[in-house]
Amino acid sequence: MERLIWMNGQLVPAQQAKIDVWDHGVLYGDGVFEGLRQYHGRVFRKAAHLRRLFDSARALRLQLPYSLEQLSAALDQTLAANGLHEGYIRLVATRGRSDLGISPLNPSRPMVFIIADTIQLYPQEMYHNGMAIITASTVRTGPHMLSPRIKSLNYLNNIMAKAEACDAGVPEAVMLNHLGFVAECTADNIFIVRQGRLQTPGEEAGILAGITRGVVLDLARAAGIATAECNLTRYDLYTADECFLTGTGAEIIAVTRIDQRLVGAGTVGPVTRQLTEAFQALVREE
Ligand code: PMP
Repeated sequence: MERLIWMNGQLVPAQQAKIDVWDHGVLYGDGVFEGLRQYHGRVFRKAAHLRRLFDSARALRLQLPYSLEQLSAALDQTLAANGLHEGYIRLVATRGRSDLGISPLNPSRPMVFIIADTIQLYPQEMYHNGMAIITASTVRTGPHMLSPRIKSLNYLNNIMAKAEACDAGVPEAVMLNHLGFVAECTADNIFIVRQGRLQTPGEEAGILAGITRGVVLDLARAAGIATAECNLTRYDLYTADECFLTGTGAEIIAVTRIDQRLVGAGTVGPVTRQLTEAFQALVREE
């Protein structure tokens, strides 16, 4: 079935859903986006995703032409129009059409579009057995530069690191920040478990404040697992008992090898399993 794309209020068949070549999103990566998941017919943590979209837009002085409630309804409308029950949604807002100059004040009206589809980020086998990652030499853009908390359409920093992962034949790469501390992977946040304690870089490390990351921290606390948001080095990754990644697309996936070192026993660890089960229960519940 051909997908229907929501474009500034209209549902358009995918083949006809086209972006203007003068759009600042195309010319300069000038825009913001969100990736959301639908479980059992409901969008998971919709309010948190929409809030982050509006915060990203505000940080970039991009005035969205819709209210949070209107975009919330548009998400539901797009999922329903595509007959989806377990879907993945990409919500994108660009600065809109302009001339060839970079001024953000020239474009008249932002372009907002919503793609609803399904997604499988990593092979199912990796969800059972874990996956290998590498450390990228590409440094994560610092929080004092273009804040990684802005989920913008410019993902070149992440794409450069992803290319390193592809070259190494692994699905993900962890990026260090400008100080040499662990930041995040190219599209996922990273956690380790050491002596039963869950650790993840803080927001000040220069990361996207992942919605899934927040959910996992809450689940861990609710389960009585000690948590810490702190600076981590590669040494901490190499000597961790467990490691896993989180993201809307990825959900929770164990990392069993980092830069050719086995993490713990090289299998999916008990805390990772426990949190994955709690996460799966939560998304079914909500
Ligand atoms: N970091 C980056 C760079 C991301 O693009 C994403 C989203 N794919 C995440 C972390 C995870 O964020 P969330 O859990 O909100 O999807």
